[in-house]
Amino acid sequence: MISIDMKQTCAKCNKGGCTAMCHGCQQSFCTKHFIEHRQELSQQIDDIGQEHNILRRDLNCDKNIDSLLEHINKWEQESIKTIQTCAHNARSALQQLYNQTKNKLIISFGKFTQEIQDCRQLDNYTEINIKNWIEQLKELRQIIERPSIINIDYDNNITSAIKLIKVTDLQHSNLSFSQEKQSNENNNHTNEQIVGSSSEKFKDTFGSITLSTDGLTA
Ligand SMILES: [Zn+2]
Ligand SMILES: [Zn+2]
Repeated sequence: MISIDMKQTCAKCNKGGCTAMCHGCQQSFCTKHFIEHRQELSQQIDDIGQEHNILRRDLNCDKNIDSLLEHINKWEQESIKTIQTCAHNARSALQQLYNQTKNKLIISFGKFTQEIQDCRQLDNYTEINIKNWIEQLKELRQIIERPSIINIDYDNNITSAIKLIKVTDLQHSNLSFSQEKQSNENNNHTNEQIVGSSSEKFKDTFGSITLSTDGLTA
């Protein structure tokens, strides 16, 4: 309802008489400017509607978690690559060390074999040689059977081979928005409903999540 108060002047054109009052902003208007005022409010609610739609679209878009997941995936791939490179190098080093040790044994064994063959052919050996060869056989047997001289251990010199990551919640920001329906006052100068007076309650918690290296190494 548009109520008329002859004493009031229009907030827009300052003319007196035939004036309606907006309960929202407590301003009085002439009929023409009251219609304009309503159109302005109508434009504003349209703008809010647009922003609301954009917000809903952004809520459905998981851009934030996608980039964090991408961060974890990247760390995972890089860590796997680091481990694979380290394992590859360790295997190469082990093979090289094993081959060197084996070659030395083969050379020693070859010399030993040659010595026995030579002495046998020439029939030139005594108990001293026999005793010596028995000792050599024992020695070679021990070398073959003893636990590996090659050891595999953690390299304490390389502390930053792989840094473990952890997910932490930097800060809890509790956004609490509660808007109770406001009663429309029984006012003779009022002709509009309060915009946005729905009784919706909206509570949510937004966490600020971060990924960081844990300082731990694997
Ligand atoms: Zn006016
Ligand atoms: Zn108003």
